[in-house]
Amino acid sequence: MKVHLKALGCRLNEAELEQWSRSFRASGHDVVAEPSTADVVVVNTCAVTTDATKKSRKLMNRLHRENPQSKLVVSGCYATLDSDHVAERIGVDLVVPNQEKDNLPQHVMDAFSANTMPLVAMEPGESSLFVRSRQRAFIKIQDGCRYRCTFCIVTIARGDERSRSLADIIDEVNALVEEGIKEIVLTGVHVGGYGSDIDSSLYDLVKIILDETDIPRVRFASVEPWDLPDKFFSLFENSRLMPHMHLPLQSGADSVLRRMSRRCKTTEFKDLVEQARRAIPHFNVTSDIIVGFPGETDDEWQQTMEYVESIGFGHLHIFSYSPREGTKAARLASPIENEIKKQRSRELHALADSMKQDMLAQQQGLLLDVLWEQAKEDNNGQMVYTGYAPNYLKVETRVSQPHSEFNHSLKNQITNTKIDGFSKENLHLQGTIL
Ligand code: SF4
Repeated sequence: MKVHLKALGCRLNEAELEQWSRSFRASGHDVVAEPSTADVVVVNTCAVTTDATKKSRKLMNRLHRENPQSKLVVSGCYATLDSDHVAERIGVDLVVPNQEKDNLPQHVMDAFSANTMPLVAMEPGESSLFVRSRQRAFIKIQDGCRYRCTFCIVTIARGDERSRSLADIIDEVNALVEEGIKEIVLTGVHVGGYGSDIDSSLYDLVKIILDETDIPRVRFASVEPWDLPDKFFSLFENSRLMPHMHLPLQSGADSVLRRMSRRCKTTEFKDLVEQARRAIPHFNVTSDIIVGFPGETDDEWQQTMEYVESIGFGHLHIFSYSPREGTKAARLASPIENEIKKQRSRELHALADSMKQDMLAQQQGLLLDVLWEQAKEDNNGQMVYTGYAPNYLKVETRVSQPHSEFNHSLKNQITNTKIDGFSKENLHLQGTIL
């Protein structure tokens, strides 16, 4: 899918475009500069003045005129305040109100296309998992991958593994701490392979970051579920290493994993998850699944559904398989029909949703350290803060008196928060700051 993004108004609207653009790209879609070539056009509208409202309407009209074939999606303040009228306007296909802005790419993909394959693995530094913010920075620790998963193009393009030196990484982390960054995410193409070329390991790297810097929180981006060094999970005894890992599984059927040339079979994956859960309470495991890999039979699909349910993931990224030119998988026989892929994808989305709700329910009553990242005022004049718990579940809290000193100091702070429950609407935990 080709997506064109446009914003009017404030800086925040602009920043959201960047975030959406990353999510679309990470899900395998192209973000294009010209609206005339797009399949979907997204407008982030503004309503701060009458003039801004007028401009928003004009822009929507112009974009529809220029490319009437494309789907027009509108979000932002004008679209939220006047959603009924906006939805009825000529050419508008989808309205995403401000409360749902964070999930706009997902709404668009649900409405107009199934997720297609991302460039697996992600470009180092790019991540659809974590939101980049003023509190969080991505650190590239290595590049390249020694494996050849049959669907993966990145490894062909990026070559062998090359690790950055420990000293270089420590310098970068220390500089970020000086700037006030509270959380770093260690990224790479094959993060678990860190150090293989410089006589070091991911264990050494994390240990040294925890020992020699004051960064309050350390996370991993996507980590392939193999090559993890011995004693790896003992690192999490240090509570500055966040108890969450995104371990891409891709399929729950060993026969499919073999066709993908994955190095981790289902029993090994299960062992790994069990190790993590034994070592760290409330450890959150999230994953990627590719739906409709060539030749995926009904039986293999059933195996995947059952296996995924038996593990219980906190979140799943679900991608419909699409061939990438130059990969081995692109030449495999028996491609799966789109309708079947869509049906399987819907089934897995429903399961992922219910697993996430189970995970959220298990957090009730816990005291978690939340890093508060965003704030907005709701319709009742209360401030709604959102942030992330250590295990990367999103938490929100409501605070009255928008201008109190307490409020001003909350953003970018980590506070102990009691989890009261969760919202079924947006799947955020709801908490009270202690
Ligand atoms: S492990 Fe496989 S999917 Fe991951 S980067 Fe290497 S080849 Fe690609």
